Amino acid sequence: MKIIVIGGGAAGLMAAYSAALEGCEVLLLERNEKLGKKIYITGKGRCNLANYCSEEDFLKNVVSNPKFLYSSIHRLSPYETVDFFNNLGLTTKVERGNRVFPESDHASDVTKVLEKALKNIGVRIELNTRVKNIKQDNGKFTGVETNKGDYTADACIIATGGLSYPSTGSTGDGYEFALSLGHTIVPTLPSLVGLKTKESYVRDMEGLSLKNIGLKCLIDGKEKYKDMGELLFTHNGVSGPLILTVSSYFAKDIEAGKKMGLLIDLKPALSTEALDARVIKDFAANSNKAVKNILGGLLPSSMVPVMIDVSEIDPEKKANSVTAEERKRLVKNIKGFSLTVVRSGDFSEAVVTKGGVSTKEINPRTMESLKCQGVYFAGEVIDVDALTGGYNLQIAWSTGYTAGANQNI
Ligand SMILES: Cc1cc2nc3c(=O)[nH]c(=O)nc-3n(C[C@H](O)[C@H](O)[C@H](O)COP(=O)(O)OP(=O)(O)OC[C@H]3O[C@@H](n4cnc5c(N)ncnc54)[C@H](O)[C@@H]3O)c2cc1C
Repeated sequence: MKIIVIGGGAAGLMAAYSAALEGCEVLLLERNEKLGKKIYITGKGRCNLANYCSEEDFLKNVVSNPKFLYSSIHRLSPYETVDFFNNLGLTTKVERGNRVFPESDHASDVTKVLEKALKNIGVRIELNTRVKNIKQDNGKFTGVETNKGDYTADACIIATGGLSYPSTGSTGDGYEFALSLGHTIVPTLPSLVGLKTKESYVRDMEGLSLKNIGLKCLIDGKEKYKDMGELLFTHNGVSGPLILTVSSYFAKDIEAGKKMGLLIDLKPALSTEALDARVIKDFAANSNKAVKNILGGLLPSSMVPVMIDVSEIDPEKKANSVTAEERKRLVKNIKGFSLTVVRSGDFSEAVVTKGGVSTKEINPRTMESLKCQGVYFAGEVIDVDALTGGYNLQIAWSTGYTAGANQNI
């Protein structure tokens, strides 16, 4: 069997290896001048390549279409993925939250071991080769057209990624191929991305990272999500682990224009009454000081002027003249600092793409298209996405491995 793999990202590299392992003659086509451009920037350059967890726990972290992944995650589980890389010579370590990284902390090592394995197993790699079109005859794959000419094969695996970080080569070509074969594309949205807020004063706190805060997410005024964790202020909104999760769960609501509010509890360990008592104590101990000079013990310094402003208190006012009403407003805002989300960040800043080739039209056991015989899909191009923690690369490894392993049968 002759197989063409389109895309030399995580899914394509794994698919090419697994097809070659089956004894196929594999040609890997990558539009960039090198393989795995996105892998280089994963995990802040360290590549959180998997999560050391059970298949069940993995599936709990998949946000879109986890059931579709039952077979492929069973075919190559997270534990087996780590063994796979260890056997290729990549030593790994497990960090907080079961996140797996290369021992070297270099994402480039992940690509290096895969590239070496592909060469050893005889995969032919053509760089700077962009597939432009997929050819079929009567619902059966025949070949591909590229900027360097046409190639024929028995089957092809589309592993072109999604739309996030297009500078890495993922510009949605796979969706066009799928559409041309009669597939449905579930509308694509940026996911695991910062959120933009109406309140422009977030800019005054840009770079401030808040740890162990409580976050509530309200959709059309109703509380839909609650969690604790870390949040980061950006020049036009919020980001950080908690927000990335929210961006994934509520991407469709934001896109639909629903009203999304965030309530940040800066002191989740204190009840409103306990916090009020603490503020009263601080004010009493500094009765002749201006409010703006008292709150530093309670809040990060860049947040103090913002908090005083939203609480409608004169920052120069002496603590002993702050009214009970004003103090109550301050306490209320510390327990529920309110922000209004206007939109998600763009694809250029999003870790993954939500949406893609409909899972209803792909055989989950083989990854083969149900529209065109001999065409397979792998990785982010499919309508599957997960939370942060190594789960998205796991999707790429497992679907890639499955697509490749089902050749030569
Ligand atoms: C900044 C950032 C950090 C991330 N960190 C992590 C992390 O630590 N852990 C984790 O699990 N996930 C992480 N992710 C997500 C993860 O990187 C992706 O989900 C995963 O790389 C998707 O793999 P893929 O092979 O499906 O697609 P891609 O990695 O996008 O690869 C697709 C490849 O196909 C090529 N291609 C596209 N069109 C064509 C064409 N027409 N012809 C030929 N080649 C083509 C592209 O050039 C590209 O090389 C991160 C993502 C980003 C953006």
